Amino acid sequence: MKFLSSIAFIFIAGVFTTLQAQTIPTGTSWTVTEKKDVKVHTYMSPSPMFANTSHIIELKNELIIVDGQFFAPYALELKKLTDSIGKPVTRFYISHDHPDHYIGFGDAFPNVKVYALAETKASIEQAGQGVLEQRQAQFGPLIATKLNKPSVIQQPGVETIGGVKFIFEKSLNNESAVSLIIKLPELGVYIAQDIVYNKIHLFIEGDTKGWETALRKILKDKTYKIILSGHGKEGKTNLLKENLNYLSYVNATILKSKNKEEFKAAIIKKYPEYGGEQLIDIYLSYYLKPKNWVN
Ligand SMILES: [Zn+2]
Repeated sequence: MKFLSSIAFIFIAGVFTTLQAQTIPTGTSWTVTEKKDVKVHTYMSPSPMFANTSHIIELKNELIIVDGQFFAPYALELKKLTDSIGKPVTRFYISHDHPDHYIGFGDAFPNVKVYALAETKASIEQAGQGVLEQRQAQFGPLIATKLNKPSVIQQPGVETIGGVKFIFEKSLNNESAVSLIIKLPELGVYIAQDIVYNKIHLFIEGDTKGWETALRKILKDKTYKIILSGHGKEGKTNLLKENLNYLSYVNATILKSKNKEEFKAAIIKKYPEYGGEQLIDIYLSYYLKPKNWVN
């Protein structure tokens, strides 16, 4: 999910005007899978707060976190969870440079070493502080006071950490321009983050061919049965087909609609159980501009 436009935030700001930091709904966490000395846990913010996930890979003597929330109170809940496990966090990964994955955890995890792909590190280096300040201006105490920016470049490749095999891959032009995929073949876990959404409206900016290619690539990889999403709970491979169907419906509906209202009504009708309806408003206002629409 992408939140680059500060104006776009005014749209969703209304959701939070009556919420104080201490009264926002709490997130949830659960153990996704475990095998020998490894467990994978997920912490997720509530659905109206975009169901942002942070995953914890619990190794024998250490914890590795993937993605760090948008709102600071949720990163603090994540910290409580890692404290309760009682092992040190040795690496904090950022999957891609959209703010909902990196601006939340600077206060909760100020000293943990942050890893990212070279492109993501450079992008946050360049734009991260400005993005943080914009969000602070709009959401006040719900936003962290500082960033913990990537300091270590993760190269694509295979690495064994705490006796567990990790495969790091770079994926291009999916939901974001560049994203890090982390695969744990021994557990059959594929950490796809925003390539996959689960029952939250996908954030559409325009052409989705690259995104569809990334989804099909995961489908072909038969080693992985558990797909971890960036928004919403994990799923099995049918989640990939659901996302592909969603994108295909979106593209057909873009062609059939005359304007944003028609488009949005059709999407909501087709996917009434999905969360994150305001995301459709944001991308329709600021990102998606089909040539065949009149407004
Ligand atoms: Zn996102």
